[in-house]
Amino acid sequence: MDIDKLVEGIGKFQKKDFSKHKNEYINLVKNGQNPKALFIGCSDSRVAPNIITNSKAGDLFMHRNVGNFVSPFGSDVGTEIASTIEYAVNELNLSNIIVCGHSHCGAIHALNHIESLDSNNMPNLIQWLKNGNRVKEIVENISIKKQLNQEEKLKYMEKISVIFSLQNLLTYPYVCEKVIQGSLKIVGWYYTIETGEIEQFNEEDSRFYAIDA
Ligand SMILES: [Zn+2]
Repeated sequence: MDIDKLVEGIGKFQKKDFSKHKNEYINLVKNGQNPKALFIGCSDSRVAPNIITNSKAGDLFMHRNVGNFVSPFGSDVGTEIASTIEYAVNELNLSNIIVCGHSHCGAIHALNHIESLDSNNMPNLIQWLKNGNRVKEIVENISIKKQLNQEEKLKYMEKISVIFSLQNLLTYPYVCEKVIQGSLKIVGWYYTIETGEIEQFNEEDSRFYAIDA
C-alpha cells in the first residue's frame, strides 16, 4: 500500500466512519478521554490493537515499541515507555494495562543475531534491544534442555518477553502499589497473527491460555 492509498483512506474515513460517529468524537473532546486500558504492543504493522480488540477511538491508550518491551523502572533506555506508564497510571488512573506480544516478532528474531546488526545504521535499535537480553539468556538454556527447534525457540522468547514485561511493570512503585490495592490489573497477551488467536498469561501456573470470548 503506497501513500496515495492512505490518503484515499482519509477521505473514506471522513465520509463514512467520522460522519457516522461524529457525536462520539465530539464527546471525546468535550468529556476528555477515558480509555479502558493502556495497551503496550509492538510497532509491527501486522499488530493492529483496535482491530484485534474490536475497539474504537478513545478505548485504548497506547504505547508501541519495537518488541513490546517494558524497560524496568529507572532504566536509561526506557524513558518513553516510563512516561507513558506514568501518565496512564498517575494521570488517567487507568485500571488495566495489557502487554501484548505476538508471533513472528522481528525484534525477538533480531535478538538472536544482534551481532549482525550494523551499529552505524542502527545504534539506537541495538541499544533498545538490550531490553531483551534476559529473555535471550533464559531461552538459550531452555532451548538446550528441551531441544527446541528455531520456531519453538522464537515462540518461547516472544512469550517469555511478555512475562518479563509484566514483571518489569511491577518495578514501577505506583504500578505495584495499585496492583496490590486491587485498583490496577496487569495482563499479558500473545497474539498469533496467522490464526487471530489471543492467549492470556495465567500467573497461577505460568501458562498462556487461549481467550475464549
Ligand atoms: Zn514485534
